[in-house]
Amino acid sequence: MTETIKTKVLVIGGGPGGYVAAIRAGQLGLETVLVEAGRLGGTCLIRGCIPSKALIHAASHFATMVETARESRFGIQLETPPTLDFAQTIGWKDGIVDRLSGGVAGLLKRAKVRVIEGWAQFSDAKNCTVTTPSGPLTISAEHVILATGAQPVELPFLPFGGAVISSTEALALQEVPKHLAIVGAGYIGLELGTAFAKLGAKVTIVEAKDQILPLYDDKLVAPVQRWLEQHDVALHLGAKALGHDEGCLNIETREGETIALPADKILVTVGRAPNTFGWGLEQMNLRMSGPFVAVDERCATSTRNVWAIGDLVGEPMLAHKASAQGEMVAEIIAGQRRRFAPVAIPAVCFTEPEIVSVGLSPGDVPAGVEIMIGQFPLQANGRALSMDAGDGFVRVVAQKSDHRILGIQAVGAHISEFSGEFATLLEMGAVLEDVRGIIHAHPTQSEAIFEASLKALGHAIHI
Ligand code: FAD
Repeated sequence: MTETIKTKVLVIGGGPGGYVAAIRAGQLGLETVLVEAGRLGGTCLIRGCIPSKALIHAASHFATMVETARESRFGIQLETPPTLDFAQTIGWKDGIVDRLSGGVAGLLKRAKVRVIEGWAQFSDAKNCTVTTPSGPLTISAEHVILATGAQPVELPFLPFGGAVISSTEALALQEVPKHLAIVGAGYIGLELGTAFAKLGAKVTIVEAKDQILPLYDDKLVAPVQRWLEQHDVALHLGAKALGHDEGCLNIETREGETIALPADKILVTVGRAPNTFGWGLEQMNLRMSGPFVAVDERCATSTRNVWAIGDLVGEPMLAHKASAQGEMVAEIIAGQRRRFAPVAIPAVCFTEPEIVSVGLSPGDVPAGVEIMIGQFPLQANGRALSMDAGDGFVRVVAQKSDHRILGIQAVGAHISEFSGEFATLLEMGAVLEDVRGIIHAHPTQSEAIFEASLKALGHAIHI
């Protein structure tokens, strides 16, 4: 006989949205069940944020050693070039993933969340059947939190399989491809492309738009493009992928020429689509917003006590947004008054160098709002130069009328670590004069935030 569970809160999906929602619900004393078909941690921990950053880190170590063997730097020489056992690199990356996924399991247990392994299929808004390894189970819940995430978009003329891979397979390769062609120059394609270029692959990037990282302005992107060009990563901008033959990707260039690019692997990173199929969404009577589940500012769907969070509900499809929504929904179910209304959600590209953007870029500011911009080059920052990483800048955008900071963007080595300060300034409603009053430690790249704010006020010290 099929076992039936009744619970207060049912969470579908164990990614950064779902597992955070479940932990918080458990902490608040709500009886909670979490269903996950794959591994705890979801896209982010298992095949996204964490494994990609581990690979980027290892690749950077290798590239530094290769460069040092080619040419001595800072008086350091290597007699012979390093060798790479890529299977071991992947093994190390998998070890980190295992540790974090195990950590999530421990946290869920501590919060007294019951975790059920299997695929959930809804028959109506509050009831589902889960196919578990030990047989089917039905769950009936008072509140349902949908956190089913997203998956890579496939191109009809380049279906996944064989040489054509998504980011998931790229992060599990056992050897570095000789020629890697990447279709789509968004952050996922560029992060992986940079890592594989550092690991020795000959990387070619094909992008339909005229710019890499089309969501960012050209000034922010310029240092990244410079790095790619200086490291022999071929860029085909304004170009279209057409299809593939054995060992090559066929493209039409901006000039209308059809060419074949050598490619033993073709990585397609043209976007991610919400997981809305195959689990009974159509039985739940939910209003949609384009391909996403529509939610209000409390992440409530159109069906009472059905909530949706994370990649399933739209852009930005980022782990920290999913987690913030998950935590909030658990608190709302527990009776707290909350709404999801962040001033800004930071976005980071872990490219070379890194890009951070929080709030409005100059081009996003609504017409009629007068702004002041302060930009400080990392060339004038002692810490950046002492790390041999002067290509980049910090830019502060403020409203002219009251000097309130509307956005901060930066590009530079390790600059992602400042996303927290940028977001804090925006969330606290800081004005330029507030930053002037904050003493930033020397020598750190954070001094560039201070200097950019002074620059906007017209009196930077170090430029
Ligand atoms: P997911 O993490 O996708 O989790 C959804 C889970 O639901 C999955 O584990 C799935 O198995 C499960 N599921 C779905 N349907 C069912 C069902 N019917 N029954 C049971 N289980 C089900 N974001 C960042 O913020 N920073 C980064 O640096 C970053 N890097 C990335 C790099 C790559 C290569 C990729 C692919 C993504 C990256 N992301 C990054 C995006 C980030 O991974 C997602 O935004 C985040 O994982 C979304 O969380 P989520 O909880 O909404 O969904």
